[in-house]
Amino acid sequence: MLIPSPIEVLTYPLFTEKKINVYVKRDDLIHPEISGNKWRKLKYNLIEAKAQHKNTILTFGGAYSNHISATGAVGKIFGFNTIGIIRGEETLPLNPTLMQAKKDGMKIIYVSRGDYRKKNTTEFIDKLKGELGDFYIIPEGGGNKLGVQGCNDIVNEIDIDFNYILTDCGTGATLAGISEVLKKNQKAIGVPVLKGGEFIYDEIKLLLGDTYTRTESQFTLEKGYHFGGYAKHNQELILFMREFLAKTNLKTDPIYTGKLFYALVDLVKKDYFKEGSTIVVVHTGGLQGIKGFENRHGFSIFGQK
Ligand SMILES: *Cc1c(COP(=O)(O)O)cnc(C)c1O
Repeated sequence: MLIPSPIEVLTYPLFTEKKINVYVKRDDLIHPEISGNKWRKLKYNLIEAKAQHKNTILTFGGAYSNHISATGAVGKIFGFNTIGIIRGEETLPLNPTLMQAKKDGMKIIYVSRGDYRKKNTTEFIDKLKGELGDFYIIPEGGGNKLGVQGCNDIVNEIDIDFNYILTDCGTGATLAGISEVLKKNQKAIGVPVLKGGEFIYDEIKLLLGDTYTRTESQFTLEKGYHFGGYAKHNQELILFMREFLAKTNLKTDPIYTGKLFYALVDLVKKDYFKEGSTIVVVHTGGLQGIKGFENRHGFSIFGQK
């Protein structure tokens, strides 16, 4: 586990030309099987599970979820049994995400989309406890208060002065944790990978509770970079990811970080940032999802090795 994650200068011709200083917080390097921001969200939950003497962790996700594979991996590393409640039916052969989770010892249970929607009800949880015994629950994506606390650490590890910090958003939990601990003169920019990112405000309000009012002015959403919605892509995104890798040596994934770095470059192009600004971009990880994406779409993003 590489903690604190490294922070590196990101050299890219456009940034030099526009006189913008860009750094990457390399949460993608935290662990090869644990997607960076998923580690952030799991950490304090694991500590809490231990404190409650729970040996089993149960969580939820889609079949390609970075959170599911991360939970399987931390279970193996830290000695927890793990159970993944997966939305939808089993598809064989298992996709690379679930194959890895299973290899890491995760027990995988498939539930219908209808049942999955009821996953937070006491009735559903009690039924699972009856069948599986006691467990510590981590919500889908790791998005609870302890998950947000873990994302505070991303900012607290950074020892350079910066004006902006960029992250990609699914639920917004990572953005919430980042925004919560910024200085007054710093701003977080969230890049939603889902269409209609407006719900993220409500999500963050719910997660932060009392500190929301203080945090609200510290972040904005740039909603124009979802490429059609969650896990949607077009040729432009893929070409960008290839070009970006060639120029910077940074690998991105098509679900999250490809869209994040595309947004970064586009915002710089449009002079969103004043000359002399310093920006930190959080590479949240997600690289485990590349293989599954390639299998689904029948092409290789970065070319065969
Ligand atoms: C899950 C995930 C996100 C989204 O995090 P939220 O806290 O739900 O906004 C971003 N990037 C990667 C790589 C992820 O796996």
